Amino acid sequence: MDRRFVLSLLLGAGGAALIGRPARAQTAKRRADPAVLVLDPGHGGHDPGAIGGSGTYEKDVVLAICRSIKQQLSGTRSIKVVLTRSEDEFLSLPRRVEIAHEADADLFVSIHADAAPTLAARGLSAYTRSERASDSFAGALAQRENAVDSLYGVDLRGTDKMTAAILLDLAKRHSHGASLTAKQRIVSGVRGKVMLLENPMRSANFAVLRSTMVPSVLVETGFLTNPKDEALLAEPRSRAVIAKSLADELAAIALEFQRA
Ligand SMILES: [Zn+2]
Repeated sequence: MDRRFVLSLLLGAGGAALIGRPARAQTAKRRADPAVLVLDPGHGGHDPGAIGGSGTYEKDVVLAICRSIKQQLSGTRSIKVVLTRSEDEFLSLPRRVEIAHEADADLFVSIHADAAPTLAARGLSAYTRSERASDSFAGALAQRENAVDSLYGVDLRGTDKMTAAILLDLAKRHSHGASLTAKQRIVSGVRGKVMLLENPMRSANFAVLRSTMVPSVLVETGFLTNPKDEALLAEPRSRAVIAKSLADELAAIALEFQRA
C-alpha cells in the first residue's frame, strides 16, 4: 500500500498530532518533486560516538561521509539530500526522526562508524529495526547507540505515543518492508567496492530507526575499534570511495521509493 495513502488516512483520523508530522508537507508533495534522502550523521557535539585507538572521532568521520554524499548528489536534480546535522552539534534520537518527517523523506539513513563488540570486526554493515536483534553483535551495537540519549538526559518514553494509532500498524508494515529492501540494496550495491562485515545485513532495536512512516536503515561504514577500519575512515580518499558507492545506491533507492 502506498505510504502517502496510509498517511492521508492517518491525517484524516487526526493522526498528524500522533505522528508529529505536518499535514502540509505531505499533501503538497508531487511526483515531479525531487526524491528526498535524509542522511543522519550519528552523534555530534558533546557525544563523540566511538573513538578509535589513533584518536579518530566517529562524529567527525560520519559527518564527513554524509557531507561527501550530499556533495556528490548535488548535481542530481531528481534527488534532494537533507542532513539532520551539518555541524558538530548534539541531536537527540527522536529529533533525528522528526527531521526526516519534516523533510518528508523517502529514505532515512543513519550513518555510523561505531565501536564493535569485537576488535576483529571490520567492514560495512546495514541494520533495520526489529524488537529482537538478529544476533548478539547487532544487539550490543543498538544498546550502545540507544544509551546515548539516556546518558545525555533525553526522555525516549514520550515517543511511544507514536505507536498508538491502529492505522499506524499498516504504515509500519509498509515502511518496514521498504526498509528491508533498502538494506539489501545498500549491501549489494556497495559489494565489491567497499569491504563488508561478515553477515552484513542485520537487525536490532535501534531507537533512531523508529519511524513508522519513512523507510529507515542504519549503516555502519566500518568500526573505529578496528585499526584497519580506523585508518580507512580517517583517510579522506578512502572515505570518498565509501561515500561514492553509498551515494549512487541511496539515490537510486530514494527515487524508486518516491515513485512507488
Ligand atoms: Zn554511532
